[in-house]
Amino acid sequence: MEARELIELARQARERAYTPYSHFKVGSALLDSEGHVHLGCNVENAAFGPTNCAERTALHRAIADGAAPRSFKALAVIGDTAQPISPCGVCRQVLIELCAPDMPVYLANLQGELAQTTVGALLPGAFTSHDLDGGQRN
Ligand SMILES: [Zn+2]
Repeated sequence: MEARELIELARQARERAYTPYSHFKVGSALLDSEGHVHLGCNVENAAFGPTNCAERTALHRAIADGAAPRSFKALAVIGDTAQPISPCGVCRQVLIELCAPDMPVYLANLQGELAQTTVGALLPGAFTSHDLDGGQRN
């Protein structure tokens, strides 16, 4: 699946976002190794803390759907931003937990701009399970 196809699915998922407070809708689309796409959107909450980002929604949904952690092939994220959208720090930490460091991440905005990066590049020096074991960083 091409980046543009994944971004289009993320754009469609964005329309489902529940954002009564910020009105800042974000969509994501996560491609797994079976070729299935798991969609995510941000879901806000009046208490703010329980709010969930689009990226984490897609990742958690994929795990709940039975996809294997670190088997994912690509993630697309889109929002109404001046530059291609940038994942928050919490999502970067969840990405490094559930995705391979070299997995491509496509960041887009509604103007059609696209930036491609990787999970590892989004969070250099990440705290991982290797740190829990006292081992070396991957
Ligand atoms: Zn986030």
